[in-house]
Amino acid sequence: MGKLVIVGTVAFDAIETPFGKTDKILGGAATFIGLAASQFQVDSAIVSVVGEDFPQEYLDLLSKRNIDISSLEVVKGGKTFFWKGKYHNDLNSRDTLATELNVLADFNPVVPSGYKNAEVVMLGNLHPNIQMSVIDQMEKRPKLIVLDTMNFWMDNALGELMEVIKRIDVLTINDEEARQLTGEYSLVKAAQKIFKMGPKYVVIKKGEHGALLFHEEQVFFAPALPLEDVFDPTGAGDTFAGGFTGYLAASDNISFDNLKKAVIHGSNLASFSVEKFGTERMLDLDRDDINSRLHQFKALTQFEIELQ
Ligand code: AMP
Repeated sequence: MGKLVIVGTVAFDAIETPFGKTDKILGGAATFIGLAASQFQVDSAIVSVVGEDFPQEYLDLLSKRNIDISSLEVVKGGKTFFWKGKYHNDLNSRDTLATELNVLADFNPVVPSGYKNAEVVMLGNLHPNIQMSVIDQMEKRPKLIVLDTMNFWMDNALGELMEVIKRIDVLTINDEEARQLTGEYSLVKAAQKIFKMGPKYVVIKKGEHGALLFHEEQVFFAPALPLEDVFDPTGAGDTFAGGFTGYLAASDNISFDNLKKAVIHGSNLASFSVEKFGTERMLDLDRDDINSRLHQFKALTQFEIELQ
């Protein structure tokens, strides 16, 4: 079984979509990544921080899924990271209404000793200095370091972010953020600019329009499954990242062909995540659901064509 280190926020989210509104519910990049990765044969550990206000029930829910939470620090008297967002009618764009770092502001991550030799590291969305510290704690260079980030850190810690991006293999980012990071409208040009920053692979997520994987001159495209109901896109990008890295850690193969499969697994899991609020759908997924959607993915994209 491969080992996967996951860093990212474990959070309270308050979400508003055209279909409803939630109070503080379980969220956070590392939460979604961990839940998605737990669908694969992989040993994973979350490195993160919460406050004393974080319910034990949520911690149990992660450890029950075989996720090592020994490095998920609980700060006495502290408040958990809080994010509030409101989606527009098309659900493809959203406004952040609040980002309260709380305990994240002074967090010193500690990678569990049994995970310092992990093959895959998933640096989920949070302060780039924390992402950097996790890389520095690894005993040897992991086979694959994947990083996800968002506009908040480009706006607030761009210099630090660029330093981490230099040291990673794969950047996963959404289209709007890729344009912000590079100043390029064309996603092909954006990916080329990102290669110059360090990563050998770039995944650009385009919400309901799928995801693109770039490597040197090669491009691979995975559609998003056309769904009848999209309820809440929160965490879709992180779920994608969890499926992508969970699959790669479990299969211990980082060829371009296997990265393509990882993109499909990530997209497949993300298609479930958006069907209900927050983590709800990810918590009642079973193997049959996952497999039957993989079949749908295959049917959606396969065709025979006669070439002259
Ligand atoms: P996504 O929809 O994939 O971009 O991820 C949404 C998740 O990211 C939510 O559960 C939030 O708790 C978390 N989040 C929002 N803003 C930030 C931020 N600035 N840093 C880290 N995590 C964040």
